Amino acid sequence: MNKYYTLSRHDWEKSLANLINQFVIYAPVYYGEQQDYELIGESDIPHIVYNRPKPATPLKTFFLPVEENVMSTKAPPKQRIIMGVPSCDLAAANIQDEMYLNRDFADPVYKRNRDASILVGTDCHTIEEHCHCTTYGIKPYPEFNHDLTLSLMDETIYLYTHSEKGNSLIQAMEKFTHFHEPTENEIQALLDKRKEVEELLNHNNQGLPDYRKTGELVQHSGREIWKKYSQTCVSCGACATICPTCTCFLLMERPGFEKVRHLDACQYPGFEKVAAGEDPLRPLHKRFYNRYMCKYVWKPQKFDSIACTGCGRCIEACIGSINKNELFLELANT
Ligand code: SF4
Ligand code: SF4
Ligand code: SF4
Repeated sequence: MNKYYTLSRHDWEKSLANLINQFVIYAPVYYGEQQDYELIGESDIPHIVYNRPKPATPLKTFFLPVEENVMSTKAPPKQRIIMGVPSCDLAAANIQDEMYLNRDFADPVYKRNRDASILVGTDCHTIEEHCHCTTYGIKPYPEFNHDLTLSLMDETIYLYTHSEKGNSLIQAMEKFTHFHEPTENEIQALLDKRKEVEELLNHNNQGLPDYRKTGELVQHSGREIWKKYSQTCVSCGACATICPTCTCFLLMERPGFEKVRHLDACQYPGFEKVAAGEDPLRPLHKRFYNRYMCKYVWKPQKFDSIACTGCGRCIEACIGSINKNELFLELANT
């Protein structure tokens, strides 16, 4: 049953210290300019950040690491709790699941990594410059694909269960802590905060085309805009590897019968090169255009889930300072 639980931050931190014996815990830690997931030891607990938007690393990296030997049959020794997952990354799990779980063949390594994870989603109580989840129909608070929602307000932790795994985690904590039920006023304060952040996102992203229109805009664009925006691209592939919805990988053989899966990116030169030497995506602007066609045209045609969740990481990671939102504003206004 879905239910709210509250406890003081102090009691929550004591509970986490106990949970470390039973689970592997990852949570976001702040580094001054940005935050990222860290493996949490007892001394890290006071440094965990709450309700800040998006760690630098997307959630998908826990299920599809940058490099992984897919021949390994070793199951993780303990279940892992992944805390602080923003709703844009939880939404992105839909398309990863469609790709890796729900088709004719479920990828056993992805499934193993997914099953071993308890996902603690977080409300975003602030936003970053390039966050635009609401443009793509995603709320700035978790709605699905997670086990527990966590919010911190006024030194009180609010938990809301979403799954059996979430209920089991609450049960595990009940052995060493005592929960309360939040008052109606407290719940209302949480809901008001959600509304405030949603309005801020809508205000900041006025003019960006709605997700349902982006495909048409990309498809009916001329070649010149792709040449213009790809001018400063250095083919580093960061925009794709950091994207929570990108799904491409390469499989490489290694001595010792290892098969290593590496994340791939369509911005890399040679991404589509075939044995005879042909390379339809050799010109840089074509590779650049390919990424947009994949996300806004082909994936929406093939999958039920959206292939961009408006996290903004591709903008923040781009060495060439290419801003896809500026591109879409130009497409929408020409
Ligand atoms: S083709 Fe490009 S945009 Fe599409 S999933 Fe692969 S890397 Fe991402
Ligand atoms: S394309 Fe960019 S904004 Fe969209 S999900 Fe990927 S990284 Fe985030
Ligand atoms: S992150 Fe920027 S520079 Fe790097 S491949 Fe993507 S568009 Fe090009």
